[in-house]
Amino acid sequence: REHVRSILEDAADRGDTRIGVEAMSLLDAYGIPTPDGDIVDSPEDAVTAAQDVDGDVVMKIVSPDILHKSDIGGVKVGVSNEEVFDAYEDLITRARNYQPDATILGVQVQEMVNLDDGVETIVGMNRDPQFGPLLMFGLGGIFVEILEDTTFRVAPVSENEAREMTDEIQTAPLLRGARGRDPVDRDAIVETIQRLSQLVSDFPAILELDINPLVALPKEGDETGVQAVDVRLTID
Ligand code: ADP
Ligand code: MG
Repeated sequence: REHVRSILEDAADRGDTRIGVEAMSLLDAYGIPTPDGDIVDSPEDAVTAAQDVDGDVVMKIVSPDILHKSDIGGVKVGVSNEEVFDAYEDLITRARNYQPDATILGVQVQEMVNLDDGVETIVGMNRDPQFGPLLMFGLGGIFVEILEDTTFRVAPVSENEAREMTDEIQTAPLLRGARGRDPVDRDAIVETIQRLSQLVSDFPAILELDINPLVALPKEGDETGVQAVDVRLTID
């Protein structure tokens, strides 16, 4: 809790009301799994960070002014160790070109999550003036806007309510395993919804929060559970 408080205070001190992946550790603090990685502010440190991570990495621009990172080419997937140095400089250049006065906190170097076997979901919260904190769950990635396949509950949610959420979206069969795919770890999604529910109940200053994608991995196999790959929030 102390950790979350200090992240929120740091952002407030900077005058930021929007926060991106610089707040990833806030999820860790509430037991929501995130990929290994680090945020660095030099190409040399990016190389070191990438060496600490198994295999290729994902690199993302970290800026409270750029919360839709892919839109400006601010996410590079599958970067090999040799490519990391140049990728760092390219990401910074893209951010500067996009908005010369953007606050740039650095670049996130993140472990790759296996999307082939996983399903991209979205878990979020929006504070409704009438109902309070509304938790949202749905299919993530590119499908969010197209399908609008989402469901809502008022926080705090019970385990049962969280489970209902994962059951009642139209694409729930995808989570149960469709067309020969392995079923995903729904217990881990349920737990994530509950942990997010706790987080937003503890911190009323969080007005909005989105984990998109929360990658749901197969229930059985080498990699199981969920991985929160991206986060953005709005604070009071
Ligand atoms: P944004 O939503 O700001 O564009 P994301 O961090 O969500 O940035 O990255 C965009 C997309 O890149 C994700 O939806 C996902 O498909 C892919 N991606 C991001 N991080 C990873 C990762 N660690 N492993 C695998 N794919 C990733
Ligand atoms: Mg995203």
